[in-house]
Formats: sequence, C-alpha cells, structure tokens
Amino acid sequence: MKFTKLIFVAGALFAAVIAGGCAKGQGGVSGLDAIKKAGALKVGVKSDVPGFGFYDTATNKYEGLEISLAQMLANEIFGDADKVKFEAVTAKTRGPLLDNGELDMVIATFTITDERKLTYNFSTPYYTDAVGMLVKKSSGIRSLADLNGLTVGVAQSATSKEAISAAAAELGITLNFAEFATYPEIKAALDSGRVEVFSVDKSILNGYLDADTIILPDQFSPQPYGVATKLSNKQLADYVDVLIKKWLNDGTISALISQFNL
Ligand code: GLU
Repeated sequence: MKFTKLIFVAGALFAAVIAGGCAKGQGGVSGLDAIKKAGALKVGVKSDVPGFGFYDTATNKYEGLEISLAQMLANEIFGDADKVKFEAVTAKTRGPLLDNGELDMVIATFTITDERKLTYNFSTPYYTDAVGMLVKKSSGIRSLADLNGLTVGVAQSATSKEAISAAAAELGITLNFAEFATYPEIKAALDSGRVEVFSVDKSILNGYLDADTIILPDQFSPQPYGVATKLSNKQLADYVDVLIKKWLNDGTISALISQFNL
C-alpha cells in the first residue's frame, strides 16, 4: 500500500515536471496559458510620461495610450480590460524585469532598435517620437549649435546619448554627457546647473516641462515605440503583433493618439 502510494506520488511529480517543461517549451513562463493561469497580465509602463503612461496621483490611476493598449490586450486575453497589473518602469529597469519574468510585456516608450531586437521581441510600432532637448529659458540656449562644450544629462540604457552624439558630430560640435538612472534626477541636475540640457524623447520631456524651462524645436533620430516581450516568448509576441496591426489598420490607435493629444 505504502509502496503503491510512493509510486503514485513519484509518478505525479514526474508528470508535473514534464508538463512544466512542455509549457516552457511552448512559450516560456509568460506564454498565453501561463498568463491566463496567473489571472492578470503584468505590464511594465511609464508613470511619468503624460499621454503615454502616466500615474495620476489625484485618481490613483494610470492613463495614456500605452495604458489603453495594455487594457485592450487584457480584454482580448481575459474578456476583461481590468485584468492587468501595472508596474512603473524606467529605461534602466524595464529590460531586466522582462528578463526575470516579473513582467509579461513592456509598453513603455520602448524604442525599437536593431540592437534591442537581438534581446527582445518588439511589435510593429504603435507610435513614433523623436529625441529632443529641454533647457532652462534663462540659459539662452535655443538649438543644438549653442551646445558646444556643454553637458547633456541623459538616462542610462536610453537611446538619447547616441542620438545626440550623432547630431553633434554632424554639426562638428563637442558635447559632454552625464548619465542618470532616472528622469527626476536629470531634471534636478538641470535645475541645479550640473547639466545644461536634459535630452530624451520629446514625449518624456513633456512630463518635466515647467515655467522655467522650454523644449527646443530641434529633434533627432526617430524613436518608434513597440510592445516588448521576452525573446523566447514568440507565441505571445505573435499574438500581440496581430492585435497591434489590427488596431493600426482599423483606426483604433489613431483614435487613441487623438484622444491623448499626441
Ligand atoms: N525611448 C527611448 C529609449 O527607448 C528613451 C528612453 C525611455 O524610453 O525612457 O531608449
């Protein structure tokens, strides 16, 4: 009796391991089945980018184009747009949080680049921004040409440094860079005079614009934003891409872009 029970337990354990292995093989821990089982879609979003991913402390709610896309994806998967758990990410944290499985996907002003495509799946772009510059009005800086020898604050793991460097090289000017982990730190560095320019995508700069600063008209390097998933999770990537393409074609995304004044 005891022996039979042992065999049964061992058999059940073996079956569980095999089933786990198969589930992983079919798309990893965040395959569609695993998401359904978890009961909610875990999405990394921005909390400080108005119109894209913004956490409104008055309503305690996230809102923006990227928030709506996440809710629409949850609605497709669960038939319920509320079955989504948002987690605020930065340029530095979003990749590692996808890698370690804490997030199923990232919809967070994540620029599609050839280099990043080696590490993550990206959907068809749902929006294209450009890199811009925020300066103090009192600095007198009005274009990139005024920046020779000055220091630009950029975020770690962002595309900004490369974009501004390329534009500066074309103009024949030299820039210094200071890299920071978060955008509030760059804004503080601009306010204190540690850097003369805060550079990142214009959409992100909008969240830091105040009475003392301006966003310059210059813009560089198109930044196409895609929904990112873990590279091994092709099933989820394909599922998401079909829907993004559908929403691009049927006007859903352009309606959202208008709704959020982007
Ligand atoms: N969109 C740019 C990037 O992906 C800027 C950084 C950010 O999204 O925070 O690098």
